[in-house]
Amino acid sequence: MPPIDRLPPLREVIATHGLAAKKSLGQNFLLDLNLTARIARIPGDLTQADVLEVGPGPGGLTRGLLAEGARRVLAIEKDTRCLPALAEIAEAYPDRLEVIEGDALEVDARAHLNSPIHVVANLPYNVGTELLIRWLTPAEWPPYWQSLTLMFQREVAERIVAQPGTKAYGRLAVLAQWKAEARIALTLPPEAFTPPPKISSAVVHLRPRPQPAFPADPAAMERVVAKAFNQRRKMLRAALKGLHPQIEAKLEEADIAPTARAETLSIEQFAALARTLG
Ligand code: SAM
Repeated sequence: MPPIDRLPPLREVIATHGLAAKKSLGQNFLLDLNLTARIARIPGDLTQADVLEVGPGPGGLTRGLLAEGARRVLAIEKDTRCLPALAEIAEAYPDRLEVIEGDALEVDARAHLNSPIHVVANLPYNVGTELLIRWLTPAEWPPYWQSLTLMFQREVAERIVAQPGTKAYGRLAVLAQWKAEARIALTLPPEAFTPPPKISSAVVHLRPRPQPAFPADPAAMERVVAKAFNQRRKMLRAALKGLHPQIEAKLEEADIAPTARAETLSIEQFAALARTLG
């Protein structure tokens, strides 16, 4: 396959800039530019869109996004060692790459982006779930983003797309699928990364629903779901004790057997319960 751009191969970039991976920053780099271009294609046509990338590192995915034609990429990177390598990419793609040095949990990315906006990231594992929850719980819905294309540890990806009645089904599945359509777009073995992590990874693609799948107050939904899964092996009448003095009656009012367990409840049933409990 021809190279996707005229910049040096990523192994060379890493050697030139001394970017030995740091475990503390969750650094497992993707060095195969054909693979990063494949990930960049998951959200669809980006030529009229801004892309938010968290943790560009040496820039493999950034280069994939730009080579695939993204209108603009805003990349937030905490590791200052990566900035010279990212500056070279910015130079190769004039006016299309902005790099912010900082912690993605602190930076107000929205202020630097124009709609439509897609989020694409090979996330640092230590902040991935936190960022996903933030993207799924903005003050207003629909959110500012048109899609999220995110790399997670495979086990986390499976928790996001899990169906009721499975071990992986929990808070993350209910929240993600209540707000968005979620699917695993790609799974990758440890060897796809440098250095290889201990486990496989997967890219999850989420598209926001115009409104949550079933009506319910988000705070009430979060309370019920959190409490239900906190003691997932208990029957709901016990797990949800404390949410309402007549919890059994409330469960029945929502058409849910008080003896059912959280992991068997559909998202529709959680929403019905959240509405009943108010
Ligand atoms: N995107 C690159 C790739 O695919 O090769 C690097 C992925 S690596 C798994 C995660 C990257 O996120 C690292 O470059 C790391 O320095 C950066 N990072 C870690 N914590 C961060 C944070 N809180 N905010 C922004 N970037 C962070």
